[in-house]
Formats: sequence, C-alpha cells, structure tokens
Amino acid sequence: MVTEQVSSIFDTILVLDFGSQYSHLITRRLREFNVYAEMLPCTQKISELSWKPKGVILSGGPYSVYDPEAPHVDHDVFKLGVPILGICYGMQELAWINGKQVARGEKREYGPATLNVLDQSVPLFEDVDHSTVWMSHGDKLNGLPNGFKVIATSDNSPYCGVAHETEQIYGIQFHPEVTHSTMGKVLLKNFAVKICKANQNWTMENFIETEINRIRELVGPTAEVIGAVSGGVDSTVASKLMTEAIGDRFHAILVDNGVLRLNEAENVKKTLIQGLGINLTVVDAADEFLDNLKGITDPERKRKIIGNTFIHVFEREAAKIQPKDGKEIQFLLQGTLYPDVIESISFKGPSQTIKTHHNVGGLLDNMKLKLIEPLRELFKDEVRHLGELLGISHELVWRHPFPGPGIAIRVLGEVTREQVAIARKADFIYIEEIRKAGLYDKISQAFACLLPVKSVGVMGDNRVYDQVIALRAIETTDFMTADWYPFEHSFLKKVASRIVNEVDGVARVTYDITSKPPATVEWE
Ligand code: GLN
Repeated sequence: MVTEQVSSIFDTILVLDFGSQYSHLITRRLREFNVYAEMLPCTQKISELSWKPKGVILSGGPYSVYDPEAPHVDHDVFKLGVPILGICYGMQELAWINGKQVARGEKREYGPATLNVLDQSVPLFEDVDHSTVWMSHGDKLNGLPNGFKVIATSDNSPYCGVAHETEQIYGIQFHPEVTHSTMGKVLLKNFAVKICKANQNWTMENFIETEINRIRELVGPTAEVIGAVSGGVDSTVASKLMTEAIGDRFHAILVDNGVLRLNEAENVKKTLIQGLGINLTVVDAADEFLDNLKGITDPERKRKIIGNTFIHVFEREAAKIQPKDGKEIQFLLQGTLYPDVIESISFKGPSQTIKTHHNVGGLLDNMKLKLIEPLRELFKDEVRHLGELLGISHELVWRHPFPGPGIAIRVLGEVTREQVAIARKADFIYIEEIRKAGLYDKISQAFACLLPVKSVGVMGDNRVYDQVIALRAIETTDFMTADWYPFEHSFLKKVASRIVNEVDGVARVTYDITSKPPATVEWE
C-alpha cells in the first residue's frame, strides 16, 4: 500500500542537512511563510527520492569541505534542474565542487556583519540590502567558483554572496535562518517563492484535508486503529484527527496510572468523549502502578517501572477491544512530531542514531501493529494551530508539557498514595493561582514537587514537623535551556500561604531559582 507523502502533495523545498545546529530552523522559517519544507541528511541519494523538490537548500555544517572525511552532496542534485541555495558550508560545498577554492581563513568570523549587495537585479536579495546578517565560519572562499559571479560582499567576506552565471545556483556565507539575520526570512522567501516558484499553500487548513485523506487511504475501509492518550496536546490532536478520518474505528485508551494530576482522568474523559467525540476508554490501573512502585526511590527505576507497567496494561486493554466484523486491530497511533524525526535523521557523521520511543517500540513488536503517525511532519506550533482548527480548546492546546511518569517523578523519594495526594493538591493550587494571575501562557512549564525532607513549623501554637513543597516555573523557547520565571513577591506569598493552609502534611514552601543548565526542568 503506497500512500502519497506530504512532500508530493505540497510544493516542497528540500533542505539537505550537513549537520549545522541551525538546519532545522531553515525548515521552520520556510513553513512560517507557508512553503512546505522537509529536511533530509546530506547523504541522501537523489535517485532514491520519491518526490521532486521545487528547490534545494544545502545547510551549514561543522566540517571543512577540504577534510578527507567531510560529507558531500550527491551530484545528481544538479540534474534536478531546480534552484539551489548553499548556506555557509553549503556555499563552500558549491565552491569545492566548482574549482576547490576553499581554505581556512586567517580569522574566524562569528557574529553580525552588514550585507552589501552588488547586483540589485538578483531576486534573492530583494529588500535585504544593508541588513545585518549573522556569520559563523572559519573557512572562506579564496576565489570565485568556476562559472560564478560575486553578488554581495561584507566587510570581512569578499564572497559573501555568489551566483552561477547562467543557472539558478546561489551561495551565501551567512545564516539567513537565525533571527539575528534581520531580513533572513525575507531572503529565504525570495528564494522559495520568487526563485523556486513554490506555492505558499502549506496551511493547517489544507493539511487537515490532505491528512484525513491520507489516513483513510492508509487504514483502508475496515481496519481499526488503537492509540494511547495522555491528556496532552499531541495525543489529543492526533486522536481528534484520527476520529475525523475513521470515526469509531479509532480506539483511544487513557491509562490512569495513579500519578496523573488532580482530577485529570475525569477531565480528560469529559473533554475527549463529550467535547471531541473521541471513542475513549479510561482504564483505572492506579493500584497496579502504585503497587509496582512500592519501595522504589531511584528516578530511573521509577521511569522504567512506569514504562513497563504501561505496556502491560495497554496490551491487556487492547485485547479486550472487539473490532467490528471480527477484524483485527492493525495500527498503533503515535503522536510523533517533526523535531523527533529531525533528531533521528539529522546528519551526525558516520554513526547516525535512530531513536525509537521506548513504549511504542515494545508495543509494536509484541502486538504486531503498524505505526501510524499523522503529526510526524509537524512542528509543535503547527500542531497547536491544527488543534485549534479541529475545535480543541485554547486551554488544552496551550497546556504545559507533563512528563510520562507524571507525579511519580515530582514526589521525590518513595511514591506512596499519601505522597501523591499531597503533591497533587499543592500542584493544583499553584496552577490555579497561575491561571488566575493570567500568567499560564507566559510560563513554559510550572509544577510543584514534594521533597522527601521534614521541616519544623508552628501552626496554631503547635509545633509541627512536616514536609516541604518546591515550586518550579520556567520560561524557555526550546526546553534545551531555560530560566526560572520572575514571579512578583506577592504572588509567591499567596501561593505559599494557600499551600501551607490547605494541604495537610506541608509545613514549608520554597521557590526553585535555578536555571537550566545546570539544573534540569524536572527534579528527577
Ligand atoms: N565549518 C565551516 C566553516 O567553519 C562551515 C561553517 C558553517 O556552515 N556554519 O567555515
């Protein structure tokens, strides 16, 4: 069964990745002005592509083109007859292929430079002249590639921009994909829209339609699909999309593992079944999980136990589902997003690592299911937009991330029913106050954790000896680095006093003021 790929339905710019830390940003920027783009490793054989790109971008990369082990592009890319843009390493690669005029520069160049356009007729630089561009290179062109001309310079780079004399092949020394290049997005748009003539039709409205058709074609008229939901954005959006495509032939399962947030299972049930019409079964397996966690304090072991128990419970529940017409369940839905795909395909040199999700891997093997991943082409912000178009509430679509092992890793030390109850209540109060103060959408992630220490307090003239709650709130764009959120003192005061007053077993509240790195977002 062959299902058409998104890249054959939408005009697509192919980004070949040479390992730059910014490669995925090229893809993002293009999509921001509604041109679909996909990234593949630089080693991609062009003859093995099942679709034809409208244009190709060669990314930057950490290598030097003259190194014996440096990666090189398949020369068939020039036979495609589509425009090509080389960025930094990508430009050096074009120069290497056309006369080898690349060498180590005397000075490296990192940071801002001003672009000086020499040829105003080149559409690539329309509205970009004199703007700030971001440099990050140690090598340079020490001559013009054969058949090329200079189209732009900067103070330190006499070959800041080059273009082929007759063909639509361009090279730029700077990185238009980073926001420090102030007109970088305009440049990429000039390339994709003006030069490659790519259609700007990549919208989530169009995606819904094509994706629903794709799912129907893949699943066929009778097969059934199963998937786990967590109450988070990705699994809810994926489930809603499946439901739109195949209705009740999609079975969603929420496993209540006993370490979800306060009232979470109940809320998810209401939202998904009543609100979104998803065919959902909620399984209460809290006792099984909590019994398995008994006596365990090591965070890694907690995660493993929860992962394994999950597989066990999910398989048991899946076996109970009776598909119509005696058909077997054939597919497993997974809410994989594009960053995970990128992570597994980006060019990292000879040893490429492919990451498979622990839980899903197990389920696929044991249950003999095929994977279905309707969100695998999408970035997180695209998933959110899609969710809104599918009628999912703003509150759910913009929910903070919640870890798979849930409150089990926010109760430090042993996870008991009593400890979970305390952590849940404190977290509930904290999030409620954040929402009331209108701060929820400004914060990337917030939660309370329960520390395994006791501290002395005095309540109603009595000495108490109770536990400590730590509050965490961070701001971040990518969760790779993060800073703690600067709450007003009055806000912290209010939350602390509510938690100590309303949650039995808590004598003290602290606020975590560590950034990531060195700390991680979660405490375990
Ligand atoms: N490694 C090459 C250099 O130092 C390319 C750098 C890049 O693509 N950012 O010039």
